[in-house]
Amino acid sequence: MRSFFKGVRRRIGKLDAEQLREQYNLIADEADFLETLFLTNSEGVIVLDQHGIALRNNPAAETLLGMDVAQALKFLAPRVGEATRREIAISYPEAKTLEMRTVPFKAGTIVYLRDVTAEKKRTEEELRAGATKAVRDLAAGVAHEIANPLNAISLNLQLLERDLPGDASLVTCRQQIARLEQILRSFLQALRPSKPNLLPGSIAEPLKNCLAAMKQQFEERRISVTLDVPAALPKVAIDQNQFEQVYFNLLKNAIEASGEGGRIDIDVLSDDNDDIVTIRDNGEGMSSEQLAHLFEPYRTTKSKGTGLGLMITERIVRDHGGSIGVESKPGEGTLFTIRIPRIERRIRALEQS
Ligand code: ADP
Ligand code: MG
Repeated sequence: MRSFFKGVRRRIGKLDAEQLREQYNLIADEADFLETLFLTNSEGVIVLDQHGIALRNNPAAETLLGMDVAQALKFLAPRVGEATRREIAISYPEAKTLEMRTVPFKAGTIVYLRDVTAEKKRTEEELRAGATKAVRDLAAGVAHEIANPLNAISLNLQLLERDLPGDASLVTCRQQIARLEQILRSFLQALRPSKPNLLPGSIAEPLKNCLAAMKQQFEERRISVTLDVPAALPKVAIDQNQFEQVYFNLLKNAIEASGEGGRIDIDVLSDDNDDIVTIRDNGEGMSSEQLAHLFEPYRTTKSKGTGLGLMITERIVRDHGGSIGVESKPGEGTLFTIRIPRIERRIRALEQS
């Protein structure tokens, strides 16, 4: 374009009327083309004169700014005659981030505006995901390092206990170490979940195993437990070990929420799609604030809690293609409902996706 104009300018005195008209038409076509580019560009473009007054702008500029350009220029305050780049946060009519570039040219300055909201959000998310993974790897590494010496201490304690049977300090030490080992186990499980080994089976089987193993805990607290399982139950694809963990976490919470003489009712049932387990306790219940953050890690109301149990539970259920729901009121108790799709439905869902 520039050399074209230079050429015309040099020869203009020598051109006859016909040639002038021809050159004029060429320029008019070119201007029309540039005008179209200007008007249809999705980047906002504002042309400023040497004093920073807007000479013209395209429709995109107004759309991106959400207001009159002359008004917007007051807070945009673009640097006239300088090449710059910066980001501007707009809060009205909607929150977004614009990138503003200024490019000087002979007669003034051009301001370019571009919506970078989505781009910026993506970058932030990528950064956060990266940081989370680094912290997780570090934490898992530290947990492993702690597990080894703990093991050695535990073995040596056993030797000492042989020499000093029933020594109260040693018993306390062993209990505390057992607690540390439990914390490390849940911590590692939360950080590095293992894939479930899904086999056709019953949703009630691991529940029965878990109840048998916890019998003493119920008796100590005089908590009565009822279990209702139908004679025939459709099979689900299930990792029995992981589900023992699910039931253990939920029942342990139910015990801890219930006072002496509390009550836990467990029902197993099925509908057209799912096998369902409900666990109801008449314990202290939860407020709606607690419920809002229930499955997040490290949320605990207990002095000796880890706040990892429900997070692990939710993940195991999710890995089984199922869902977990909770209803609770302070002072009235809590109801957890677990649903796992029946095998036929799971296969159908997979075929569709
Ligand atoms: P932790 O038991 O270590 O605190 P969890 O993830 O198992 O961690 O539970 C998180 C929190 O959810 C508990 O601290 C408790 O406040 C609440 N909670 C869980 N289950 C129940 C329940 N059955 N009744 C009342 N509160 C519960
Ligand atoms: Mg718990």
